[in-house]
Amino acid sequence: MTEALWFQTIRNIWRSRIPGQLIIQMTDACNARCPQCGMRVTEDFKRSRLSLDTIRRSIDAAAEKGFQAISFTGGEPLLFLDDLIEMIRYAGHAGIPYIRTGTNGFVFMGSDKKGFNSRIERIAHALADTPIRNFWISIDSAVPEVHESMRGLPGVIDGIHKALPIFHASGIYPSANLGINRNLAGEVAGNQRTEPDAFHQDYRSGFNRFYRFVCDLGFTMANCCYPMSIPGRGTGSGLSPVYAATATDDIVNFSRIEKTLLYRALLETIPYYRSRIRIFTPRTSLLALTRQLTRQMPESHPCRGGIDFFFIDAKTGHTYPCGYRGHTDLGGFEELNPSQPLKNSRDCRECDWECFRDPSELMGPVLDMRNHPVQAIKRLATDRTYTRLWLEDLRYYQACGVFDGRKAPDQNRLRQYAL
Ligand code: SF4
Ligand code: SF4
Repeated sequence: MTEALWFQTIRNIWRSRIPGQLIIQMTDACNARCPQCGMRVTEDFKRSRLSLDTIRRSIDAAAEKGFQAISFTGGEPLLFLDDLIEMIRYAGHAGIPYIRTGTNGFVFMGSDKKGFNSRIERIAHALADTPIRNFWISIDSAVPEVHESMRGLPGVIDGIHKALPIFHASGIYPSANLGINRNLAGEVAGNQRTEPDAFHQDYRSGFNRFYRFVCDLGFTMANCCYPMSIPGRGTGSGLSPVYAATATDDIVNFSRIEKTLLYRALLETIPYYRSRIRIFTPRTSLLALTRQLTRQMPESHPCRGGIDFFFIDAKTGHTYPCGYRGHTDLGGFEELNPSQPLKNSRDCRECDWECFRDPSELMGPVLDMRNHPVQAIKRLATDRTYTRLWLEDLRYYQACGVFDGRKAPDQNRLRQYAL
């Protein structure tokens, strides 16, 4: 982190804020068939794309408000690669330091065809020639056939295996992005485990297989998206998705007890792989989500969606506190007054969207220190499990170079996490 960024971060905390993050949904068009997502190509609705002018204005406004992170998401962002590259450059020139985007991997199909390497080199070089910091590739299963059939992208795993060294040589270290789903544990519809110990064990094995698989594929970084099955509009839920990367499909629908068990399984599995691959997922967050689900105190930290984090929807170009609070339309991002979101905010823990929940949890104790120092110190002193995990996460993030996807992992620093 540069001195200017440290200064900005400290200034934010002084104002009871954390570094801002803006997710810009460039398009809701997609060419994949994921059962866990309402934007799959088989869904019949009119697809939208944000105009580049809207995106530019939003980037300028984000830079002006001191935001540090922008994610360009979809749909599938790489369907419009030239525009994506232009917008990443624009965000970099505007002074945004943390820029992310990702893909379902469709460009990696056809790796047995002539010209694959040169096509991937062109894409990797084009991305490497921008200030992009992190680039994710979705992986849904450790079994290639299962992943490819879920995504509807045959041959994509072989292609990713061949493409990763090309990306690394260009100076981009992609992250494997797992969307947690029932196939991970080898469940099949109608034959799901109900016995808690067996369910927990199945998911421990599933996460183990996933980490081994992505290490073998050549990834140097990995992340997990927690299950996003939330009720849709008109169901009486407080949530109303504007971001359709959610579904009511069984494959991502977990009961409260199942989520508790699978978060526990992930919490237990991560330490075994921290020395082999840089793992974003903070264990603090998993502990907090588990406690939230089992209604244990102390509470998880509330989400910063609508306070420091925002989502811009491809269909309307409007801003929302996140992709799931569609009832709270905040209008154009450039008109958003930095102090106004606080009025629109509430302590929200209604979903497990890791993009917002993980950083909210990690920064939570820092904000507690700023706002209620005595209680914060008391909590850190008494809640030893939480404090230990939080300090471990912070140390691990440092050892991972704060997940700089433009740098190879520092194997010496990671090795100290070997079990
Ligand atoms: S999860 Fe991503 S790749 Fe899959 S259908 Fe949705 S937008 Fe497309
Ligand atoms: S927890 Fe965060 S991401 Fe989820 S609905 Fe609330 S504000 Fe949105």
